[in-house]
Amino acid sequence: MFLDRDGTLNVDTGYVAHPEDVRLCAGAAEGLRRLAAAGFLLVVVSNQSGIARGLLEPAQADAVDARVAELLHEHGVELTASYRCPHLPDGSRPEFARECDCRKPRPGLLLRAAADLGIDLRASWAVGDALRDAQAGLAAGCRAVLVDAEATAVPSASGAGLDDLPAGVYRAHDLVGAAEIILTHS
Ligand SMILES: [Mg+2]
Ligand SMILES: [Zn+2]
Repeated sequence: MFLDRDGTLNVDTGYVAHPEDVRLCAGAAEGLRRLAAAGFLLVVVSNQSGIARGLLEPAQADAVDARVAELLHEHGVELTASYRCPHLPDGSRPEFARECDCRKPRPGLLLRAAADLGIDLRASWAVGDALRDAQAGLAAGCRAVLVDAEATAVPSASGAGLDDLPAGVYRAHDLVGAAEIILTHS
């Protein structure tokens, strides 16, 4: 399964650039433990346009990735792999300023990871705190869970009108709720 990073695994402080700033989201480790126990690979797929914007270096994004993995490891969770889109069409760094197939809501990161790791997209899920995370999942052929701290603590299927979410997208309060949805519907 595919996990957004900032705002989903770790608290999104805005273009997270420093490993010492990384804090796990409430419920992240517990939710991921349940999903790993059910056999899901845990693959991070992250838009990092701060690189194209000149706000952080790729090495800083690597360091933040490593810190997220380290904190989860301390809680008994092993991430499988991490994929990143550093692009933005109007970014300030020419080497990253372009249209690409990997900036979510496009599915390129998920498709690449699935090919690398042998993931069955139809049986997989995308989880993130932004609609574009869910959209990337749907575009890749997955189902999706939108993690939304404003959402009711009781996981609810979407499509009932109020949420105005695309079919195949569920909403949960945190990653524990997301895990409950995924394990119920898989
Ligand atoms: Mg996010
Ligand atoms: Zn990209």
